[in-house]
Amino acid sequence: MQAGDESFDVIVAGGGISGTMAAIAAAREGARTLLVERHAALGGMATLGLVQPITTWGIGGQYVIGGTGRRMLEGMIQRHPGSATELSLYGPTCDAEHLKRELEEQALACGVRLRYHSWVTGVESDGERIAGVRMVSKAGECFVRGEVFVDATGDGDVAAGAGVPVEVGSQGITLMFTIAGIDRERCPERDEMAEIYRQAGPLSYRGLCIFWGPRADACYVNMTEVEDLDALDPDDLTHATVECRRQAWGILDVFRRHVPGFQRAYIAQTAPAPGIRESRHVQGLHVLSADDVREGRDFEDTIARAACPVDIHGSHEGGRGDYHGLRRSYGVPWRSLVTAQFANLVVTGRCLSADHVAHSSVRRMAPGFALGEAAGIGAAQALAHGDVRALPVAPLQARLREFGAILDPEERREKSGA
Ligand SMILES: Cc1cc2nc3c(=O)[nH]c(=O)nc-3n(C[C@H](O)[C@H](O)[C@H](O)COP(=O)(O)OP(=O)(O)OC[C@H]3O[C@@H](n4cnc5c(N)ncnc54)[C@H](O)[C@@H]3O)c2cc1C
Repeated sequence: MQAGDESFDVIVAGGGISGTMAAIAAAREGARTLLVERHAALGGMATLGLVQPITTWGIGGQYVIGGTGRRMLEGMIQRHPGSATELSLYGPTCDAEHLKRELEEQALACGVRLRYHSWVTGVESDGERIAGVRMVSKAGECFVRGEVFVDATGDGDVAAGAGVPVEVGSQGITLMFTIAGIDRERCPERDEMAEIYRQAGPLSYRGLCIFWGPRADACYVNMTEVEDLDALDPDDLTHATVECRRQAWGILDVFRRHVPGFQRAYIAQTAPAPGIRESRHVQGLHVLSADDVREGRDFEDTIARAACPVDIHGSHEGGRGDYHGLRRSYGVPWRSLVTAQFANLVVTGRCLSADHVAHSSVRRMAPGFALGEAAGIGAAQALAHGDVRALPVAPLQARLREFGAILDPEERREKSGA
């Protein structure tokens, strides 16, 4: 292994929405920040997984997520017309290539040191502090030292490698794909399309689930799925990828034969990375629960809000699926981003500390932007403080508000007129 001659203040593992936002936020606070990503683009599921739209930004007519992520997307849409559909309470549907470029440009502009083509494979720790991460790339293995670490791998690779207890959940795996060459003028309404597809014989248990835009002749397709697989097992992942790709071609065939407007359509791309909804949940100081989410609870250490529906994928025949909206937003406490074991580990995005039900809501990408920004600022503030578990949350909340984060529940904001 190469000697650990490099060191950073903050090391973020995983360049998905949440990790990229964490790296941007940490670097903007002045921390020397390394962002490590195994693939060759930022955005994770949003780009490499072709998962769109980026949801859910609000509820009951009010935004509950603001901050840098929302501003960044609004800026991208303004500067590059056609890069995404309009940002609404539900989401924008982004062009994955535009989003890759935007995230890269923003990260580099803030001074993030980007390292693609590198897998974080483990950590070295000394008691309650992580000393550095081990990585592997074509150059071999290396060890990079850091002061504070952000696990944004989606699968909790850093935390699990450090020995933090995790729960492993499972939901259907989907390989997203895009269909282009569609004559939109001739396409029937969504309900009619859904009925045509249902009668023609679905190729997975999922019905019609497509998202238009931003290109007029193309859509994102979220309709393949395999269940009961281990998202951490390479053989299961390989099987999921191959089987879902087979389903994708079958779905295209049904569309071409039966749905007006699709006769000349083609698969523009199957996602480079299979869509993993759930794997490890890191056990933090607070496990965000189904009751927290359903009752719209708030916390003194709220660092982000979310209002996405509970959305558990699994065969409805088997009774394991669930989808229902919420009545109001809930807070995510800082304690769900930090663990009992380590003074210098922050966890963000899909692998944060939540139970199966809460996770199915908070895992989405609009919350991912907000959580990532909190993780990054918190990590930078912990450089001076020393212990993420005891970090005074008021300065973190104040800094987040300066960047436009929404931390107060809807009722409090209505009363204050904010
Ligand atoms: C099929 C599907 C449909 C969905 N639909 C929606 C939707 O409509 N709207 C919505 O908002 N959300 C949706 N979601 C949820 C959402 O896309 C994800 O939960 C979210 O993108 C997770 O973001 P993240 O940043 O936590 O992780 P990810 O996007 O998974 O990013 C993790 C990053 O870390 C990298 N990485 C992982 N391990 C390592 C390692 N050891 N070393 C280095 N790099 C590593 C990965 O390559 C990746 O880039 C869907 C998810 C799926 C799978």
